[in-house]
Amino acid sequence: MILVLGGGVTGLSAAMALEASGKECLVLEREAEPGGWCRSFSAGGYTFDLSGHFLHLSDPAANRFILDVPGVPWRRVDRDARVWLRGRLTPYPFQVHLKGHDPAFVSRCLAGFARERIRAAISGERPPEHLAAWLLQRFGKAMCDAFFFPYNRKMWRTPLSKLGYEWTGWSVPIPRFDDLLEGASGEIRRGMGYNATFFYPERGGIGSLARSLGLRLGTRLRTGIEVARVDLRAKVVHTSGGEALPYRSAISTIPLPRLASFSEGLSPAARKAAGALSWVKVLAINLGIRNPGRTPGHWVYVPEREYPFFRIGFLSNVARSAAPGGRVSMFVEKSFPANARVDVAREVGAALRGLKRMGVLRKGKAVPLLAREFGRHRVFLAGRYGAWDYYGMEKSMADGLRAAREAANARG
Ligand SMILES: Cc1cc2nc3c(=O)[nH]c(=O)nc-3n(C[C@H](O)[C@H](O)[C@H](O)COP(=O)(O)OP(=O)(O)OC[C@H]3O[C@@H](n4cnc5c(N)ncnc54)[C@H](O)[C@@H]3O)c2cc1C
Repeated sequence: MILVLGGGVTGLSAAMALEASGKECLVLEREAEPGGWCRSFSAGGYTFDLSGHFLHLSDPAANRFILDVPGVPWRRVDRDARVWLRGRLTPYPFQVHLKGHDPAFVSRCLAGFARERIRAAISGERPPEHLAAWLLQRFGKAMCDAFFFPYNRKMWRTPLSKLGYEWTGWSVPIPRFDDLLEGASGEIRRGMGYNATFFYPERGGIGSLARSLGLRLGTRLRTGIEVARVDLRAKVVHTSGGEALPYRSAISTIPLPRLASFSEGLSPAARKAAGALSWVKVLAINLGIRNPGRTPGHWVYVPEREYPFFRIGFLSNVARSAAPGGRVSMFVEKSFPANARVDVAREVGAALRGLKRMGVLRKGKAVPLLAREFGRHRVFLAGRYGAWDYYGMEKSMADGLRAAREAANARG
């Protein structure tokens, strides 16, 4: 028996391959349904993924396997990704779409990029020591300060001087100077980067992939079974329900630090190595919007600190079926250090405020109308309840100061 620990898309694919080669296998999945991060759910006529999941394909063998899974209504989609920077929305990648930004900023970006290219031509490429140095060499200071540094800090929640850059090859498009110049004068670069097209199911969200795989595996997938301990010497998996399942070999898709923490029989060196692994956690907030504001493209990268999220996306712009007519299904992603305590209600409030500032959510008509009308009578609305907004103490008090200024300067 080959045990597969975890029934996300990796575990399900492994089990399908084992089955195809005639091997006996069993998938153990902790949750009530398979899919892991690639799950979807419906509520109020909307479809949501746990967070935006778009399938980017490049490996022909994997392509065939994934697109041939029966029952998944795949559709090929041309990417429409954007970047929200300095109050402007430009196509992704931002570095080759500088037009529209103020001319001084565009000059700084071009000059910074050129300076790094010239430096490399004169002194040769120095191997960068970390991600920050790699980004600086590739894009120059102005673009790093505006986008690459804040975006990567927001996403990785770790000083960039402590991160490697080996993963960047497939995901960070490196432009030529000509690309920058053409983008600065307004040319739109479609298809640049690793994910110019992607696949997404017409209906049912990305979860329809795992659901179909799960159905095909039938009783070889057991859900609601948590692996609690692995005895490496005896080759037995123990579940939290008290079952002991012997295996000939096993495939683990459980996060590696977790697997190492409950595996018996690891060497001290392996245990130490597991202790050196670090990660971030991601909060995905899904919203169904009845009266959307500006909801452009498939997803938007948001590097600046004043917005609490690093990426937002509009699932119903990818698959119309994800929201009732005229409405929008969207997701918001924010990451946290591994040990952070996440106050979800507070994060939702902060996300809603950020989305209002970007114009994704309308501010609503009632409050501005009332504020205008009271203002005409020189009554200034302030604070969480007075201004009818989701403020904490600091915001309420700052709003009090703002209202004081307006009241003091009021004429008439
Ligand atoms: C916010 C976010 C956005 C992403 N967007 C994209 C995208 O757009 N495109 C893309 O290609 N990739 C994307 N990814 C990456 C993608 O989610 C992963 O590559 C993929 O889901 C990995 O699948 P997996 O099966 O290895 O892991 P998981 O999905 O984590 O599955 C692991 C499974 O193991 C189970 N498990 C864990 N512990 C136990 C236990 N003790 N006992 C039993 N079961 C257990 C879990 O419940 C889970 O079902 C994104 C990831 C994140 C976090």
